[in-house]
Amino acid sequence: MNRNEHQSAIDLLTQRDVEGISAADARWLEAHLEQCQECTSFAVALNDTEQALRSFTLMAPVSLVETTRARVHARAQELREQQARAVLMGVSFCLGVLTSTLTAVLASARGGNCGSYGGHAADSI
Ligand SMILES: [Zn+2]
Repeated sequence: MNRNEHQSAIDLLTQRDVEGISAADARWLEAHLEQCQECTSFAVALNDTEQALRSFTLMAPVSLVETTRARVHARAQELREQQARAVLMGVSFCLGVLTSTLTAVLASARGGNCGSYGGHAADSI
């Protein structure tokens, strides 16, 4: 095993409980841990640290809780509005493409019947 594999294992261990990792990464990590005492020791130490932090009780002031709740609510509202705008932009784009296509088809059909170069050529024959 090389240094990069150990570093990848440590990166995945620190990422796993916070952001989550893919199933393929989890399989690779488990296989690595089965063979690597160094990274297994790191994983045990990390797990012990997480357990110690979870057992520590911290009371936040009511004002901090209320402020955080209000900011989370505002951010959730902002994200919902961004999502709605993205959907509207997508629908507008699709309608624009559809309208352009229909206009081009109609113009082509009208041009073929009256007034296009091809139409005059056909009339003169
Ligand atoms: Zn390792």
